Parts: sequence; C-alpha cells; structure tokens
Amino acid sequence: MDKYLFLSDLDLTLIDRDYNPTLPFEAVRAVSRGVSDKGHQIGLISDTAKATLEMRRRQFGFNGPLISERGALVSLPDGNSELSAEMAIDWLVFKQLVIQSLEARFPGVIILEEGYLKLKRTRNDRLVFLNDKTNLIIVNPYRSYSFSFHVNQFQNGEITQNSEFYKKIVDVLNDIVIEEYQPFVYQDANPDYGVVIYTEKQLDKSLAIPIIRKYYPEHTLVAIGDSQGDAVLKGHVDILAAVGNASPEMKKRADIITSGEITHGMLEILEIFVPQVREIRAKF
Ligand SMILES: [Mg+2]
Repeated sequence: MDKYLFLSDLDLTLIDRDYNPTLPFEAVRAVSRGVSDKGHQIGLISDTAKATLEMRRRQFGFNGPLISERGALVSLPDGNSELSAEMAIDWLVFKQLVIQSLEARFPGVIILEEGYLKLKRTRNDRLVFLNDKTNLIIVNPYRSYSFSFHVNQFQNGEITQNSEFYKKIVDVLNDIVIEEYQPFVYQDANPDYGVVIYTEKQLDKSLAIPIIRKYYPEHTLVAIGDSQGDAVLKGHVDILAAVGNASPEMKKRADIITSGEITHGMLEILEIFVPQVREIRAKF
C-alpha cells in the first residue's frame, strides 16, 4: 500500500485569520490519529518558525516533519534538522538593525520580543504599565533564518491593530533595510495581519523537498496550501492540493481543489487519500 506524507501549510490552510482551526482540535487530533494508525505521516510546511510549528504539531497530534521559515529548515520527528541552503544574511544582525532603527525613528514605541499569541493571552499582566494608545511592535522571538514583527496598539487594555501606524512603519522600512540587504531579503508586508516578514530571497518552500525525499524515499508527497507560496511546490511534490479558500493562482496550479475551506479543506484531503478516516471525522 502507498505511504503518504502530507505536508500542510499553516496560515489559512489549517488555521484561520484569528489563528484558530475551523473545526475543534479534538476533531483534527482524532483524524490525525486515524491517518498515523494507517502508517502515514502529517507534517507542516510554513513560513513561520520551528517552535510555532512544534506547538501546532502537538495541538493537532501530527507525527511528521516540520518545514519552517519558508523552506529554510527541515526538522525531522527524531529531532534532527537540516538547512536547505546556506544563509546569505546574519539574521541576528539584521534583526538588531531593524529594531534599533525603528526605535530611533519612532520615539515612544514599545518593542517587545514575545510570542504574539502568548502576549495577547496574558496582556493584562504584562502590558498594564502602558498608556492607552501606546504603539507596540511585537517581534517574533522564535525565528532564526528570517525576521518578523506585528504592528499593534495598546488600547483599552487590548492589543489591537493600528493600520495608520502600520503604514508609517512600512513606509520607512525601505530606508532601514539598507542597500546591502536589498538583493538578499524578501519582504512580505501583510496589512490584514498587521505583520511584516523578512525572509531570504533565495528561499521558497520547494527547496526543502529534496531533503524530505532523502528521508522519505518511499512516501508519496501530498502538499496542501492556499497561496502563491504553496503553488511553488508544483512539480516538486507528487500531488498539490488547494483548500477551497485558496488564491486563484494556487487553484490554477493545484491537482485537487477541496470544497471545504481552511481546516475543513485540509481534512478533506486526508479523507481522499485515507478513506478510513471519513468515519472518524463524521463523528464531529
Ligand atoms: Mg497560507
């Protein structure tokens, strides 16, 4: 029987805009257990950091490898890791440059290096000293081969989006990310999320696939995603699947398009290849 390795994107493939699955965690965990009981594996392939993917793997009960930071790092379930390319940038230096420049350009801004979701959960204890309408930059502390931050405002005891401040930040970033970095960095500014992500220009998710093939020579690779960043996997994996909410470009390149969106769509793919889990999901 064929062994499948499913590689799922995270944002808008497995979780929604609020970072939640569209089905209960128990449902995903139960289906995931059914898939692994049949000898298949489910891994994650995302632009985000390894630590974030490890947390998601635990939450969803997945058993497969993690590909993080836009294909930069492949982490196997046994704990071994491999980089898919030699990095062109010292990301620690880059991070310090951007943080120090933002502090200089925006006096009074508070820059915190914290897990965004964790900070949102514990905001009242941690941010109680802040004045109302203080601008916040929340730097992702978990990245090693990329750099990202959320642009927010502290208002009425909540962390909220501030699109005006976000626009100002994005406007000055080109001055900050000086010429010597321009040929090597790729900037992904997403106002919907209030987030700015920098990764290496040389990278995309497909660079990780040869490493995956080395460790999973017998497996059929099925990738599931929603955006252009996933569409590049066409021709590298065996089957490319798009969730129902995927972008038109991704749908055009995909071999399969699900009717369900986000988590529903992702589980639909598992059910197509592992029909035994249909019954499990029907219980939820
Ligand atoms: Mg996505």
